[in-house]
Amino acid sequence: MTFEQLGLIEPILKAVKTQGYTTPTPIQQQSIPVVLEKKDLLGCAQTGSGKTAAFAIPTLQLLHAENRNPNGYKHIRALVLTPTRELALQIDESFHDYGRHTGLKHDVIFGGVSQNTQTLALRNGTDILIATPGRLLDLMNQGYVHLAHLEVFVLDEADRMLDMGFIRDIRKIIKELPEERQTLFFSATMPREIADLAASLLNNPVKLEV
Ligand code: AMP
Repeated sequence: MTFEQLGLIEPILKAVKTQGYTTPTPIQQQSIPVVLEKKDLLGCAQTGSGKTAAFAIPTLQLLHAENRNPNGYKHIRALVLTPTRELALQIDESFHDYGRHTGLKHDVIFGGVSQNTQTLALRNGTDILIATPGRLLDLMNQGYVHLAHLEVFVLDEADRMLDMGFIRDIRKIIKELPEERQTLFFSATMPREIADLAASLLNNPVKLEV
């Protein structure tokens, strides 16, 4: 199996090549076609499996295919929620790496630092926002983040979100998302509370386990 066989477009294939990847990992082989078909996804996957590219690559391709933010203010089209600053930064870097030829803008926000540079970056909007839940909710409440035009919602490491006490924040954020959207839900484990959350968020999802 090659990246070409997954139906990826040239700007993404070029970036993947630059990364030095030759073969998609099992989670990528399974998830990329599903996401490109705009289906919801429930993925049981660990860090190290290539999970980030499994959602970032097809999300970039979907957003690139329709240029909904041509000029001026950019509505947020994809939101990735992840539990920690380290993961947020890694995911942001992945969107940079895989999206370098797409022209899509991405920004990252997380707590524990001044919000000023983050709000400045958000002032002109962005295509893809990567965020930790607390800071996102904070900036939403201050009116810096609007999610009404969201197309793709990614919830990463849902079980860790639960362990870290983020589930209430996540439920508040989800209330602000449009009903009609694509949702990609990832968790290494599926305790009852996470399975319930997934069931409430996902619409007829394809289930992947690697
Ligand atoms: P992740 O599970 O998303 O944290 O990715 C783990 C590591 O695997 C990262 O350092 C990626 O750069 C790398 N990686 C992801 N996909 C591939 C691939 N198809 N081939 C080689 N390395 C990859």
